[in-house]
Amino acid sequence: MGARAEAVIDLAALRSNLAYLSGPACGGPEVARMVIVKADGYGHGAVEVARVSREAGIPWLGVALPSEALLLRTAGDTGRILAWLYAPGDPDLVACLAADVDLSVGSLGMLRDVAAAAAETGRVARVHLKVDTGLGRGGCAPDAWPELVAAAVASPDVEVVGVWSHLASADIPDAPETDEQIAAFEQALAVAERAGVRPEVRHLASSGAALSRPDSRYDLVRLGIATYGVPPGPAIDMGALRPVMTLRATVAATKRVPTGHGVSYNLTWRAPRETTLALVPLGYGDGLPRTARGAHVLIGGERRPIVGRIAMDQVVVDVGDAPVSAGDEVIVWGPGQPDRGGSAGPPGQGEPTVSDWAAWDDTIGYEIVTRLGSRVPRRYVEG
Ligand SMILES: *Cc1c(COP(=O)(O)O)cnc(C)c1O
Repeated sequence: MGARAEAVIDLAALRSNLAYLSGPACGGPEVARMVIVKADGYGHGAVEVARVSREAGIPWLGVALPSEALLLRTAGDTGRILAWLYAPGDPDLVACLAADVDLSVGSLGMLRDVAAAAAETGRVARVHLKVDTGLGRGGCAPDAWPELVAAAVASPDVEVVGVWSHLASADIPDAPETDEQIAAFEQALAVAERAGVRPEVRHLASSGAALSRPDSRYDLVRLGIATYGVPPGPAIDMGALRPVMTLRATVAATKRVPTGHGVSYNLTWRAPRETTLALVPLGYGDGLPRTARGAHVLIGGERRPIVGRIAMDQVVVDVGDAPVSAGDEVIVWGPGQPDRGGSAGPPGQGEPTVSDWAAWDDTIGYEIVTRLGSRVPRRYVEG
C-alpha cells in the first residue's frame, strides 16, 4: 500500500546540483550564486530548498514576491534574499525591510514606495536597480535610467547594492538578442558608474545563460530551474545536473473491459481490444495538464498510455494484458534514466521526465513542476 500520490524530493540530487552549479559550470569563485525559490521552490518546497541551499553555502536566495521572502524569514532563514515583484502600496514592503530583505527597484514609483517603507522602519533599504535591457517586462527603460539612478543615489533612504536585468532568451545558447541585452546592460552599468554607483553585485543571467554564456555571468547568477535538474531549454547542456522531483502514485483499481468500451468524459477513447484499465488517482486538480496529448506513465516497468480525458482527480491508463493490480506503483515523472537518478530517490527506470510532460502539453518544464498542486504531499528523502 502506498500513498495515493506524492512528490518525492531527492535532497541528495539537490545537493549534488548545488555543488555542480557552485563549480566551473557557472563560472569561478568570483561569481556568486542566487538560488531562486519563488513559487514554492518551483513546486519543490521553498523552505526545504532554501535550507539545503544555505547548507551548501549559497549566499543569495531569490523570490518574486515580498510575501515569499517573508515566508523564508519566518522559517528562520537569515541570509541575503532578493524580492523583485510588487505592486504600489504592497503591505509587505515594510515587513521586508524590517526583515532585512533586498528589494528590486525598476521605476521612480517603486523607489518612492521603497524609500517610504524604509523611512517607516527607520532603516536604509538595500535595493537592486533593475534596467530593462530588452525583455519588455519589469525594469526601467534605458532612456529613463539616468533619472532613476540619480534619484536612487540622492535618496537617503536607499542604498544601491545591485544593478540587474533579465534575459529574454536565456534558454537558447546563441540567441542574438542576448548579445544585444548584454550590450544594453553594459551601457546601463556605465551610466550607473558615472553617477557614482558601486554595486556589490551586477547580475543578468538566469539558469540557461549561467550555464551557456560566460559573458552574461557578471558578479552573480540567478539559478532557478537548473537547481531542480530540469532543463531550461533543449539546447542547454545539463552536465551532471539531476532531476530532483519524482511524482509517483498508486494504482487505485483495475478492471478488464471489452473491445469498444469508452473511457472518461465524452468517451474520447475507446478500447481497440479487450484490455485492462488502471485507475490512477491523480488529475488536473493535482496539477496534471488536462490538455496533455499522448502522455504516458510508468507502471510495472513499462511506459503505458493515459487514455481518455484527464479528469480533476484521476486518470485511466491502458495497461493491456500486463498483470497490474491495485496497489502497484505508478511513476508519472522522474529522473527518466538510471544514470540521471538521485542516489536517494527512486533511480530512473525509463519513466517519463518533466521535459516529456512539457512536450506532451506544448509547454515548458517550469510549468509542469510549478503547477503541481498543494494536494500532493512532498516527501523529502536524504542521501
Ligand atoms: C524566475 C527568474 C529567474 C530564474 O530563472 P531560471 O530560468 O529558472 O533559472 C531569474 N531571474 C528572474 C528575474 C526570474 O524571474
